[in-house]
Amino acid sequence: MGYVRRGTLEQMDKSSERVIVIGAGPVGLCLSLALAQEGIPVCLIEALGSDNFLEQVPRAGTNHPATLELFERIGLYDKLEPRGIIAPLLHYRERDGNTLIAEFDHGHLKNDTRFPYVLQCERIKIVEEALALALAHPDIDLRLSTTFTGFSQNGDGVIAQITNADGEAESISGAYLVSGEGARSIVRKDLGIEFEGFTYPDRTLNIEVAYDFRQHGYTERNYISDPDEWSNLFHWKGPPDRWRVHFPTAPDDDETALTRPSALQARLQRFLPTGKDFDIVGSNLYIVHQRVAQKFRVGRAILAGDSAHVNSPIGAMGMNSGIHDAFNLAEKLIGILRGETDDDVLERYERQRRHVAVQHTQAQTMRNKRLLAERDPAVRRKNHDELRRTAEDPKLARAFLLRSSLIESLREAEQIA
Ligand SMILES: Cc1cc2nc3c(=O)[nH]c(=O)nc-3n(C[C@H](O)[C@H](O)[C@H](O)COP(=O)(O)OP(=O)(O)OC[C@H]3O[C@@H](n4cnc5c(N)ncnc54)[C@H](O)[C@@H]3O)c2cc1C
Repeated sequence: MGYVRRGTLEQMDKSSERVIVIGAGPVGLCLSLALAQEGIPVCLIEALGSDNFLEQVPRAGTNHPATLELFERIGLYDKLEPRGIIAPLLHYRERDGNTLIAEFDHGHLKNDTRFPYVLQCERIKIVEEALALALAHPDIDLRLSTTFTGFSQNGDGVIAQITNADGEAESISGAYLVSGEGARSIVRKDLGIEFEGFTYPDRTLNIEVAYDFRQHGYTERNYISDPDEWSNLFHWKGPPDRWRVHFPTAPDDDETALTRPSALQARLQRFLPTGKDFDIVGSNLYIVHQRVAQKFRVGRAILAGDSAHVNSPIGAMGMNSGIHDAFNLAEKLIGILRGETDDDVLERYERQRRHVAVQHTQAQTMRNKRLLAERDPAVRRKNHDELRRTAEDPKLARAFLLRSSLIESLREAEQIA
């Protein structure tokens, strides 16, 4: 397979001011579109090709209000809304007896955002639509089936080493290099930046089922508390409509045994005994890390998204906060490349976004997991009473939702000099 589209000669002449972005994940694509739409040329490198780009495993999918505002800015929201589910409600439930602990309504945010709801729309749909926008943009030199292998930099620019779609080694130059490569970032490793944090010993089992759980009182997003088998349950638009159920596993559980069809059915029957086999659409097992890069920038090389921070998916914050990195960084690179600001402003990017990664994303996702898995009955009761009180008081509910939807993190970051 050849390149999807090579840059024009004019773009090549502008290479001294172009930004090289590695990775056409949600972060790399949003960054590329935000830059190109302001006239900054981008060279976007992606290892996957057009023949396998859509074969990625299911991951993120809950898009919070602040992220929807950013999608709207780059013309992505209108593409995604018809492919997703608008979900104003969030449930905390007790697994035992399937009882509702608290219901939060994003309607409390109606004066804070144009989008007082989350959009349930999977990462794969986001990258598919964003890739189509990138392909159509004359200032994005998109190179699929191309692998980034390393880079060098000096005071004037960067040179990225790639293996192109024909298998040949090639060097490309630019003004800045942004790693949107995901958690295994070569840029982060080459720079010797420590990925501080830890990895949970237990893995999470994800099962996708075609079954309408709403008939049992669930809403589109549910966090389900249980000392032995906490769970998350989310609704995705089909066809066929699917629900994703997450379960914890023990560290030494055998993967083959866990993902055997009979074991998946048994797990689902314990969760919701229907007496009939569920229509299982897919399953996978994933490892959960809580890590933040010690630095987000060295010279002209910058980290964004999962290459800078990874966290538990409980709370749906990884992709959302990565996209917030992308827009924050785009604004700063535009200022620098237009000659309006000094590149010291990139230090502010690090201060703002690292603060959010540590104080918001990591802190909240760890708290969320503790809340669902708490074993002490007295602490569980106290936590659940507090959730109930918070949901029932409009002021407290709004404060809770501002935090959970990452609006508070953006406002706080704005205050950081
Ligand atoms: C089960 C699960 C559920 C999740 N749910 C949510 C959720 O609901 N909400 C949320 O906000 N987050 C969620 N997350 C996290 C979310 O998926 C990630 O935070 C997000 O995908 C990160 O985006 P990214 O663009 O930084 O990196 P990635 O999505 O990992 O994309 C990186 C891209 O770079 C490419 N690439 C990598 N290396 C190279 C190379 N050397 N050369 C060229 N290209 C390269 C890859 O092919 C890929 O396309 C979830 C994660 C998991 C595992």
